[in-house]
Order: sequence, then structure tokens, then C-alpha cells
Amino acid sequence: MTISIAPTDRVFILTGAGISAESGLPTFRSDNGLWCGHRVEDVCTPDAWRRDPAGVWAFYSELRVQGQKAKPNPAHIAMAELEAKLPGRFFLCTQNVDNLHERAGSHNLVHMHGDLFKARCERECGRPPIDDQSVYATLDQVPHCPCGGRLRPHIVFFGEVPLEMPRIESEISRSTLMVVIGTSGAVYPAAGFVNWAHQAGARTVYIGPERPLNASEFTHIVEGKAGVVLPGLFTVA
Ligand code: NAD
Ligand code: ZN
Repeated sequence: MTISIAPTDRVFILTGAGISAESGLPTFRSDNGLWCGHRVEDVCTPDAWRRDPAGVWAFYSELRVQGQKAKPNPAHIAMAELEAKLPGRFFLCTQNVDNLHERAGSHNLVHMHGDLFKARCERECGRPPIDDQSVYATLDQVPHCPCGGRLRPHIVFFGEVPLEMPRIESEISRSTLMVVIGTSGAVYPAAGFVNWAHQAGARTVYIGPERPLNASEFTHIVEGKAGVVLPGLFTVA
């Protein structure tokens, strides 16, 4: 199968944990609902951060180690190559916190759930996130912001508002083709994007080895692994 992209098309891509699976990063639901052996409530909620900041930093430090070792796979590379063919009419929104899209060469992208390699003030004092590759073994190694607040991972915890939503909404409203890759359709608002695109009249395609929970919203479903299906899937007129 091929998906043809016409000169008038604008493409919106949404990726999830599945696109990084072939790079060796576990998906969220691959392990009985655990993320790398942890319950989400223990490592990825505002309450977990208040209760146990050391445990939260230990978890994200471990993900940083895994993320640095992983390499972009053919699916990330196919997305960067597609962007290069569609200047000004390609937008990528990822739910992933790894940096494999950037390392494959994608430019016009947002991390709606945050960035594993950034940190920001826990007090939301207005200072922007900073680059941070560190692995913190103990809490006293974690730096503080000039305002006195401790640095926290620049991650959208469950229950927090995703980043860049106005830009994402505007890009969806302008797109004529939405391609969703490797996401189970369980985490909102991302799982609802296909519905917005569908209602605006866009073609909507899902790519992954199993049908997502929101399968009925898609005009096409291509069953298979992202790294196998994506290279060669698109023809650009
Ligand atoms: P999910 O774990 O709920 O779903 C993963 C999906 O990927 C499943 O539908 C599965 O069928 C599919 N999949 C598995 N292997 C695939 C492959 N080779 N090619 C294509 N698809 C494949 O993930 P989600 O829907 O993205 O939600 C999980 C949340 O957890 C996200 O918000 C994300 O921020 C976070 N998370 C991020 C990472 C990462 O940054 N790499 C990893 C795990 C979880
Ligand atoms: Zn601060």
C-alpha cells in the first residue's frame, strides 16, 4: 500500500511510544500497564513528585540512560525524510519524551508530553526549561533554580496539561492528512486528535501492529511495525 500526498496536502503526524519500540525503548502498555516495571502513579504524577522526588528522579534518570543508548530506527528516519520533501506543510507532534525524532533529523516537531533531556523549576516561577542530561543518584545532587525551587523533570505528569496545545490545535485544523503511529489511543487529549481531524474532513491513517482503541475514527489502518511499514509508504506528488 502507498499513501499519496498531493501538492495541496498538509500533513500532521502524531507518534507514540510504538515508534520507538524498535529502537529498544519499551512502550508503556507492553508490560502489563507498567512503565519499565513501575506503576505510573509512583513515578509520573504530581502526587508522586510531592511524596517522593528522589524516586521520580531515579526513574527519569534510568530513562535518560536508556534513551541515550537508543538509536533512531527506520521509522524515525522516514519521518525526517518526509519532512524534507514537504517544506512548510509538515508538522510532527510526539507523545514521546525521548529525542529520537530530533536525532533522525526532524525539525518541525513538538513534544506534547515533555522532554526527557530537559528540567525545569518545580515552582513554575517563569524561568524556561533548561537542557539537562544528568543522571541523579541522590536528591542532593539535583540542582535548584535561582528562585530556590528544586529542578523537576520537564515531563507532563498524568493530570497535568500537555504542552503547546494552541499550536497543535491550529496545525490540526489546517491539515488534510493525519498519520498516527504507534499509540494505543488511551491517553487524552492526544487520542482525540484523530476525531478533530476527521471532523475537519482530513484523511486519517493509523500505523501499528494492533488496532488502537480509537480505530473507528480512522479512514485507513495499516497493520505492521512502524520501522517496516513507514519507509516507502508515502509518494509525494
Ligand atoms: P502505549 O504504550 O499506550 O501504546 C504503544 C502502542 O505502540 C501500542 O498501540 C502498540 O500496539 C504500538 N506498537 C508497539 N510496537 C510497535 C511498532 N514496532 N511500531 C508501531 N507501533 C507499535 O503508548 P502511548 O499511546 O504513546 O502512551 C504512552 C504514554 O507514555 C505517552 O504519553 C508517552 O509520553 C509515554 N511513554 C513515552 C515513551 C518514549 O518516550 N519512548 C515510552 C513509553 C511511554
Ligand atoms: Zn524557579
